[in-house]
Amino acid sequence: MNYKADIAIIGGGASGLVAAITAKRKNPRLSVYILEALDRVGKKLITTGNGRCNITNRNITIDRYHGENSSFSEYALGKIDQGYTENFFSSIGVPFVSEGDKIYPASLQAASVVDCLRFECQRLAIEIICNCKINEIKFKKPFILFSDNDTISADVVICCGGMLSGGEKVGSDGSLFRILKNYGFKGVKASPSIVQLKTETEFVKQLKGIKVDAVATLFKNNRAVKSEFGEVLFCDYGLSGPAILNISREAHRTEGEYFVALDLFPSLTEETLYEMLCDRVKLLEYRKLEEFFTGMLNKRLGQVVLKYCGYTLHTEVKELATKDCKRIANALKSFTVKVLSNTGFNNSQVTAGGISTDEFDPKTMVSRRISGLYACGELLDIDGDCGGFNLQWAWSSGILAGESAVSFLGDKK
Ligand SMILES: Cc1cc2nc3c(=O)[nH]c(=O)nc-3n(C[C@H](O)[C@H](O)[C@H](O)COP(=O)(O)OP(=O)(O)OC[C@H]3O[C@@H](n4cnc5c(N)ncnc54)[C@H](O)[C@@H]3O)c2cc1C
Repeated sequence: MNYKADIAIIGGGASGLVAAITAKRKNPRLSVYILEALDRVGKKLITTGNGRCNITNRNITIDRYHGENSSFSEYALGKIDQGYTENFFSSIGVPFVSEGDKIYPASLQAASVVDCLRFECQRLAIEIICNCKINEIKFKKPFILFSDNDTISADVVICCGGMLSGGEKVGSDGSLFRILKNYGFKGVKASPSIVQLKTETEFVKQLKGIKVDAVATLFKNNRAVKSEFGEVLFCDYGLSGPAILNISREAHRTEGEYFVALDLFPSLTEETLYEMLCDRVKLLEYRKLEEFFTGMLNKRLGQVVLKYCGYTLHTEVKELATKDCKRIANALKSFTVKVLSNTGFNNSQVTAGGISTDEFDPKTMVSRRISGLYACGELLDIDGDCGGFNLQWAWSSGILAGESAVSFLGDKK
């Protein structure tokens, strides 16, 4: 079919839906089209926050965002802030609730967020064309967009195609990134972020299923890159849990040797821990090493830490000398495993990299080289930490792009 749009939005995900609603609300006379590759809009959004949609965060600060020029995100995040976002969602029937700093829809259902966005699109008579994967763009005015079955001409195009995280089933195939790059837009290397880490498994495999609160620190070539306190989950392939997801971004993004060190007793200094262990040896000298930590630490974890230090578990506790207590205290403060890789784009929540922000104006999201072309969301080289930061970027940049596109068209109709 052939369509003619004032504004064509490529991608009916988080940023595309809010861009469309914003544009149409601002000028209802404009024809606004959402072109979505999958059979329905918002498929990834439904999977967010384990189906509950961690929609934003109380503490949106610029240091939670990354990219070659992460300050690009500052204007959009400041203008369309968490309060603006709350009002926007409240206006479509989605009040917020919070759990600590994380904010969710009151329904705790991601699917209901997509429903409310869809209902608003319907109310505003936004045209949604599904099964419409754009595979070619003619960048001269008017823009012409081609899918296998449709041709859409448009005065303005907003690119909201996302990147590679979550996999093709949720529409993340990076096709729009490739189209823009092939046209000459500068791309920044894409790699998975907020992702589980594959590590050497000799010790972690024995701990499969155990969760601990720890400070996890990522080291590259022996230099600390990032630390995070939170839950760490041991898996048969490596490490997961919020603390690991939040330090995962840099692991193997560039060449180097990567390690994760876990501080299993963040509230105690190594010296205090050493003294505690010395006292414990005196107190429990009648035990075997396999029961040395019983009562103080997860039993299996305690045993694996001792094996990691090179001890055999049937040794008597009384055989531990002060130098052994030093070594064990050090292992508890810095239980270190080598990182081999990560579990890939399909298992990641966000993609680091994307189209370079040098190509776009942060105040309008318009292309610096093609007027009338906008981009927002994950497609750009901006990614956030775990905790609602990525959806906030999608809302802020999408709403800003929608507003700017309408201003660009002026009093067209
Ligand atoms: C499992 C999972 C859980 C997550 N949970 C959270 C969370 O709780 N909180 C949070 O803040 N962030 C979360 N995220 C990240 C967040 O979902 C994304 O950052 C956000 O959806 C990005 O929005 P977007 O609009 O840029 O892209 P997307 O939401 O990915 O939307 C892109 C859309 O474009 C379509 N598309 C792609 N290419 C084309 C094309 N060529 N033609 C037409 N259509 C195309 C896709 O089908 C898709 O619908 C999660 C991600 C995953 C994978």
